[in-house]
Amino acid sequence: MKNAIVALVLLFTSFGFVHAQCNPDDTVESWYTWAKDWENYAIDQYPISLSDEAYIGDTLHKGMMKENKILTKYSKQPYLDGIVKKLSHYVNRKGINYTIHVIDDPQTLNAFSLAGGHLYITTKMIDWTESEDELAFIIAHEIAHIDNRHAARKVQKMIMGRSVFEPYGYGDIAASLSLMISAPFGQIDEYDADRGGATLVSKAGYDPRKGLRFFVKMGEDENYDVWEKVLRTHPYSQERLNCLEAFIQNDLGK
Ligand SMILES: [Zn+2]
Repeated sequence: MKNAIVALVLLFTSFGFVHAQCNPDDTVESWYTWAKDWENYAIDQYPISLSDEAYIGDTLHKGMMKENKILTKYSKQPYLDGIVKKLSHYVNRKGINYTIHVIDDPQTLNAFSLAGGHLYITTKMIDWTESEDELAFIIAHEIAHIDNRHAARKVQKMIMGRSVFEPYGYGDIAASLSLMISAPFGQIDEYDADRGGATLVSKAGYDPRKGLRFFVKMGEDENYDVWEKVLRTHPYSQERLNCLEAFIQNDLGK
């Protein structure tokens, strides 16, 4: 049974040549969401517990510490910890310990997260933001990836790929492939984390509209190319901006 489900998932993900957006009334998009729900169903056949998630996250974090220069005495660390504490109060999944790590990188605008509660942000990203609300929005987006189990499901997906193909000797390849071939599904996660992040900042008393500056700025040098658009794991900023504006107005009433 499990194998049949996984075969179905691979079939769906290999049809991933449609750009995922955020409009549920669009036929293509609703099909996509439906396929994504199936993928999640299959992935959830390989569940991990909160403690497994924390353990895997901590293990991956050790690798992150080796590959990146993570600051241990950063002057704004208490300020960042304060934002994380405020936001994590409103998460749906309790029992995850959120910690934010600052990467000393003055060149790259980046923030990301790992299963189990590890959040990362570069010094350039921190300096680039213009307000606490905006910084909180970026951090909240990363918290939402963890809270909505996007990060945990990546781990589950690897376990799934490995368990199904291990008997044939292709376990590792399947595990990496399963992560690579579903780029447009990653875009669905991005929209989901944008909405989750906007909800968190709003509950914590920040202005979710301030977070929109991020997409306006990022969108300034983006050019649309169909192929790139299909293969991207992140949707384009202009589309994220449109979706978020609609969400903030219609769902959050702000
Ligand atoms: Zn994201």
